[in-house]
Amino acid sequence: MKSLIVDTVPRDCRKAGAINLGREIVRERWGADVCQWTETVDVAQYDRIGFNVYYATHALNIGPFLRRHGLEKGDRAKRVLVAGGQGVGRRGLVSGLVDEVFVGELDTECERQILSRPVVRSGRAVIEISRGCKQRCSFCEYSWGRRLRYKPLELVKRQIDEVVEAGCRKINFMSTDFAGYPQFDELVEYALWKRVSILNGDFCVVSLPRAFRWLQYFPRQIRLGVESFHEPTRIAVGKRFSDDVLYESIERVLDVASSVHLYLIFGLPGDDYGAWFRWVERLAGMRETIHTWRGVDLFGAAFKVNRKPVRIEFNVTNFEPCDGTPLEGAPLVDFAEKERFLSGWSAAMIGTGLFCGERMGYANSGGRIGRKELSYRMLMRIKRGGPELTKALLDALPYGVRTWISDSEALRFLGMAGE
Ligand code: SF4
Repeated sequence: MKSLIVDTVPRDCRKAGAINLGREIVRERWGADVCQWTETVDVAQYDRIGFNVYYATHALNIGPFLRRHGLEKGDRAKRVLVAGGQGVGRRGLVSGLVDEVFVGELDTECERQILSRPVVRSGRAVIEISRGCKQRCSFCEYSWGRRLRYKPLELVKRQIDEVVEAGCRKINFMSTDFAGYPQFDELVEYALWKRVSILNGDFCVVSLPRAFRWLQYFPRQIRLGVESFHEPTRIAVGKRFSDDVLYESIERVLDVASSVHLYLIFGLPGDDYGAWFRWVERLAGMRETIHTWRGVDLFGAAFKVNRKPVRIEFNVTNFEPCDGTPLEGAPLVDFAEKERFLSGWSAAMIGTGLFCGERMGYANSGGRIGRKELSYRMLMRIKRGGPELTKALLDALPYGVRTWISDSEALRFLGMAGE
């Protein structure tokens, strides 16, 4: 069967060289050709057409492709599927457009163990080592939507050999919890013995202590999922580490790395943003002193030397109650509350010197304070799914979406989607 995979992710969403593993897994499994949703191809030569939907909003790019190629449901002979990518939930988001939906990278192919092949591109490789996540944070569709499976270590080692023999030594060991891999030490030892440069920089704080002894071999920027600076909220959503553990983790990371990036979620139930602001002060103080050496010169004057500048960054996303998770029924983000939070957050970040600029706006560095209200409402409507969405998915944005959605586009979609 001749197959085509249509990638719905806008090209400009990806950094150069990034590998879309979900798409690659399906491509390899089907032996498929790949094209971008913006391309026009001779679809007559294919028996099966699949779409890779990495993020829910990109489902809006299926309709324009189908229309352009005369593949609308009802009058087509081919099978059209969504296969690969996490962007399609279980609520029939695109059931009005396609014949069948797989949830997540043809998951049935790896029921007990992960057996996916490594992917090498532009001097970098991705070796998937796990699927699912044992941390089970209560907001996370990734861990609740699928079972936890690992790739056997012996297979990982063989794949490292294969990639290295192909001339590639930069490897990302794809996993949601890299240090939580059962034979983590053995894996890292083997990779380093093979002189591999490990690209993983994302860690779960609870598993991070296993990585302390290897930190010097990891990227200079380490990213940690914190979610909330309010300890009770954090623990309630499944991130079971205290403020003290978090502080020590950041200190240990900055001892070796030069930058730490903290992921936060605005709008988790019961959060207390006063605690967030106290943490901003605390982290600014840490950055000020962590690598500072103080002394007195020959004339008795005090001086200080900053031996290593460090950077602390924050990425604040909006809480998205996800289908199938314990928090699926939790309230959506309240944007009046978010506006109040943002003025305090902006003042705190600027006042402490953690952000340089006059005001932290939505446009700062690629949406680091989350989507604006209309865009968020649009995403949540798409995630809610249902066949009644078909018309909006086909007609609201006839040219699809790229990285950015205007207010008028979002309003048009919401109007057609029955909001
Ligand atoms: S650690 Fe990350 S991937 Fe795992 S359950 Fe929590 S949020 Fe999801």
